[in-house]
Amino acid sequence: MIIMYHYVRLSDSFSAKVNNFYDFDLFKKNIYGLLNNGKVFLDPKSLTTEQWLDVAEDSNSIVLTFDDGYIDHVRLVAPFLKDIGIHGLFFVPAKILVTREILLVNKIHLMLHRFRGREAQLMEHLIQYLIQIERFGTDELNDLKSKYLKDGKYDGAVTNFLKRVFQKKFESSQLSSFCESFLDDEPMKFNLLRDELYMAPDDFSALQKQGHSLGLHGYNHFYLSSLSKARQKMDFEESINVFREFGVSQDLLIAYPYGDYNSDTLDICEEFQIKAGFIDNRLNTESYFPSLTLPRIDCNDFFTNH
Ligand SMILES: [Zn+2]
Repeated sequence: MIIMYHYVRLSDSFSAKVNNFYDFDLFKKNIYGLLNNGKVFLDPKSLTTEQWLDVAEDSNSIVLTFDDGYIDHVRLVAPFLKDIGIHGLFFVPAKILVTREILLVNKIHLMLHRFRGREAQLMEHLIQYLIQIERFGTDELNDLKSKYLKDGKYDGAVTNFLKRVFQKKFESSQLSSFCESFLDDEPMKFNLLRDELYMAPDDFSALQKQGHSLGLHGYNHFYLSSLSKARQKMDFEESINVFREFGVSQDLLIAYPYGDYNSDTLDICEEFQIKAGFIDNRLNTESYFPSLTLPRIDCNDFFTNH
């Protein structure tokens, strides 16, 4: 099993500014539980393509993965794993190492946290923005509502709508200007939070030195299937260049942001000789490219059912 964690952190740190995370003590309990059940943790660094395909299907061997380059993964998770002799695979969006601009995905989490309990109000602001700035007509708005205004796997309908529309219709800078001009709340100073959220370049190098593996997670953390092939390729190139500059010499591995890809993505992976690609669930694998669509199990699903 390849297990996917997103944001592991202490429940009481960071003034609870984010809207979703996985508690570090619970994480430790998960890992001790797996060890007590005799599961074998594999080092992602040394796996061949065949072994990757096997581990994805084998419930007795485990690879742990952590997305999005959070500082807590360096401060808490990596030292804990080192103490018990386990190596993890950390997928890092390259932009956080370079410009350190807050990614759209995190701005959305921060904003949703600010508007917790006031989601309907946030949705009203969003609709006004789409009408006034993006010139959306009634048909386009109805289309968005029929696609996204429904319960998601972990979210109610309104939160699901907010997440999907912000993820798919906005870029990071646009979201900041939406917050500045359409919300009457106190301004959200996203960039002041970057050191609280993301690992620094030195942390990235330290993870490597500790023997952990680092994997690509895009440069901008875009929904890849929403981009042209040329733009996807550019995003890949930018992230690979950053990894090479940091001396990552191991085989290239990638977790597609949001688990999202299309056939262009897989062609590009082949072109760049990426050894393994990871997605978020079993329903979305591609039988022609099994090693580029390796299913991961979300920790929230795995540990509630076991
Ligand atoms: Zn991600």
